[in-house]
Amino acid sequence: MPNILVLGGTTEASALCRALAEANIPATLSYMGRVERPKPQPIPVRIGGFGGVPGLIQYLRDQQITHLVDATHPFAAQMSTNAVAATQETGVPLIALTRPKWEPGPGDRWHQVPDMAAAVAALSGPPQNIMLAIGRMHLAQFAAQPQHNYLLRLVDAPTEVPPLPHHTVIIDRGPFSAEADRALMQTHQIALVVSKNAGGTGSLSKLQAARVLGLPVLMIERPLLPPRQETHTLADVLAFVTA
Ligand code: NAP
Repeated sequence: MPNILVLGGTTEASALCRALAEANIPATLSYMGRVERPKPQPIPVRIGGFGGVPGLIQYLRDQQITHLVDATHPFAAQMSTNAVAATQETGVPLIALTRPKWEPGPGDRWHQVPDMAAAVAALSGPPQNIMLAIGRMHLAQFAAQPQHNYLLRLVDAPTEVPPLPHHTVIIDRGPFSAEADRALMQTHQIALVVSKNAGGTGSLSKLQAARVLGLPVLMIERPLLPPRQETHTLADVLAFVTA
């Protein structure tokens, strides 16, 4: 009998949990628990870090997990790296459910940078109105470019005031639309959008809006991860865990 552990925190993980519940495949969803009011899930949920690779190894053994599905966000590099290490040690089969990267299309004005530090460096120059659509984790790094007016769209209200002298916070967890994002960018006279290359549809609207408005996008590329089996489809994951 399979006993799946899903590393989640993404729309794709939630969709996978629904599919596992519908197929009556025993599974547990793991969240880090950073977001308030996480969505209700149709399978049991555990919350919080495991305690690094040793903690994850212990959990896989204690709970007799038969398959690990890494459906974390493509920027959750630490968790994904730990998943590879823990499954190598325990022999538990691992598959990653990921979103294809966004690729620039006609009309897009992307400047691609390898990481957050490079994005910060790329913002040197005179003040601009910038939509910083990167979540709350890395906002402090942008304090190195304090001259800009930053528009921050966050899922939850920040617990600490972001260390950016000029900023506006909008609390919204979506779903977002290209039309509403275009209006938002126009209202705030945005000149540049900073985005992580998350992929998927959940936050694509800002890129569609930027394209329509002819705005440049500073696109932060995904972190590099150790090699692992990876798919973009739920069907592949279901086949993997029931093989
Ligand atoms: P991270 O840097 O890769 O992980 C840091 C630590 O958080 C991990 O070492 C682990 O702690 C714990 N952790 C992360 N994901 C976990 C999970 N699903 N279940 C249990 N523990 C978890 O991750 P992050 O970038 O902070 O992201 C945290 C969560 O938010 C992930 O679940 C991710 O899918 C979601 N998320 C991230 C982003 C993003 O842009 N980074 C965006 C949307 C959603 P231990 O070492 O103690 O096990």
